[in-house]
Amino acid sequence: MTPLVDSHCHLDRLDLTAFDGDLSKAIAAAKELGVMHMLCVCVEMENFDAVIRIAEQFKEVHASVGKHPDEHEGIEPTVEMLVEKARHPKVVAIGETGLDYYRDHNKALQMQRFAVHIQAAKQTAKPLIIHTRQAREDTIAMLKSEQSGPGVFHCFTEDYEMAKQGLDLGFYISFSGILTFKNAESLKDVAKRIPLDRILVETDAPYLTPIPYRGKANQPGYTRYVAQYLAELKGLTYDEVARATTQNFTNLFKVEVS
Ligand SMILES: [Zn+2]
Ligand SMILES: [Zn+2]
Repeated sequence: MTPLVDSHCHLDRLDLTAFDGDLSKAIAAAKELGVMHMLCVCVEMENFDAVIRIAEQFKEVHASVGKHPDEHEGIEPTVEMLVEKARHPKVVAIGETGLDYYRDHNKALQMQRFAVHIQAAKQTAKPLIIHTRQAREDTIAMLKSEQSGPGVFHCFTEDYEMAKQGLDLGFYISFSGILTFKNAESLKDVAKRIPLDRILVETDAPYLTPIPYRGKANQPGYTRYVAQYLAELKGLTYDEVARATTQNFTNLFKVEVS
């Protein structure tokens, strides 16, 4: 089986009920489904220690450092703080960061925090994991003005115009289980138009469980169903999608997957 990668999940937040509370069983289950590597994404400074502990424990897991645009509590990261934490050999990206005006309207704070992450990515020469929702103009404008990139627009749900601008800036586009949802017709059209050499797949577990498991707890192994669905959409084989998206992951994050 061609190895597949879950390019974005939150392993420190999984619902492990089905795995006797044991994360190693969830990772073993992912590997059974062909998902051989995972990027565990940090969303607040306070959970970085948990994220990095998992990355240290499992050779199949790498990590990021960052604070999500919607997080209101806790420590506000500085550039120095992010750069310092990014020195850990298992940290391969800065994020998740970006702008989300759907859930939160404190634009000034979000933009300021996003700018901090952009600077940290520059100083460390690590890619950005971008979370962007209903903030198209500001996201693109900030990335452009700072000449940021490369990176990824994770859990992409915007239109093709936005994707195209991201591609032009050197970003990859990552699709989650949302792609499999019946009401995601326009997103399916976007996925058809994005070149395969610029696509990643992810679960964003424990959120956004794909069909056929929608309604249940998400887990990294379910990346397989996102990749399978993408293959059908694009008229490709599963192996072609797995091979390409794994190669894209290696190219972007400089992580060898075996
Ligand atoms: Zn996100
Ligand atoms: Zn996430």
